[in-house]
Amino acid sequence: MSSDSDFGQIQVGIIGGSGLYDLDGLTDVRRLNVPTPYGDPSDTLVVGSLAGVQVAFLPRHGRDHRITPTHVPARANIHALKSLGVRQVISVSAVGSLREDFRPGDLVVPDQIVDRTGPRRGTSFFDGNVVVHVPFGEPFCTRLRPELVNAARAGSPATVHPSGTYCCMEGPQFSTRAESELYRSWGLDIIGMTAVPEAKLAREAELCYAGLALVTDYDCWRADHEDVSAKGVAAQMRENSAAAKASLATLIKSLDVDAECSCHGVLAESVITPLSALSDQDRERHRVLLGKYLAKAG
Ligand SMILES: [Zn+2]
Repeated sequence: MSSDSDFGQIQVGIIGGSGLYDLDGLTDVRRLNVPTPYGDPSDTLVVGSLAGVQVAFLPRHGRDHRITPTHVPARANIHALKSLGVRQVISVSAVGSLREDFRPGDLVVPDQIVDRTGPRRGTSFFDGNVVVHVPFGEPFCTRLRPELVNAARAGSPATVHPSGTYCCMEGPQFSTRAESELYRSWGLDIIGMTAVPEAKLAREAELCYAGLALVTDYDCWRADHEDVSAKGVAAQMRENSAAAKASLATLIKSLDVDAECSCHGVLAESVITPLSALSDQDRERHRVLLGKYLAKAG
């Protein structure tokens, strides 16, 4: 198997959300600064071996949780993982529940997304002289998702919901009650602030991408329940992070790290601009994402 990495074969990327700032059980740990054409990632990447698999871990908001959802450098984060040779990414995040039976402490492996974010997030790697339209009907990898569901069920005692629609809001404020009720009337299941643009960028980077959403609260729609607060979320996240770590450890042990997937060839049918028309500057900017296609185009 080939890799673009200068650091050895790193097979799996894990992006940690609120409450998950490190991984247990990593050995041979190195910290890597990985600059990208889109700036620096949220933090140094922690690379190490987990059950014999080379894993790169990145805390989405930084180790000290200093980056708001709006300002997460998602393009740099995904590009950095791609440049290390990663082909599969698990994204962990804290979410509110929009339905009674998704309880605080439960895990959800979402299968759909509704994007309610604003225009301030860089949602594509291809924002200049290359036009790319990737398919996004299934925003999460349909091969990796069931593997994550199985691992979460086997690895943690938490209730695991095998599907759900993730409403991605802009934040940083939580929803109004009217918004929360609106999302519920739309049939959306969980609400968070980070799946977009991360999932879109993972698709553009030809990465298998699945999300592990940890329910921390009932947002603000439930009359007999305290409204969501940052302190309440943090307390529940401490409990949830153990379930997340157990799920991830189980997944890594069972994952086929060399699996071929349709995600890895998405750009073959998605780039509209003839690659032969790219300037040297654009070829260099997109070398990590388009390299194999540029080599064919000559
Ligand atoms: Zn895939």
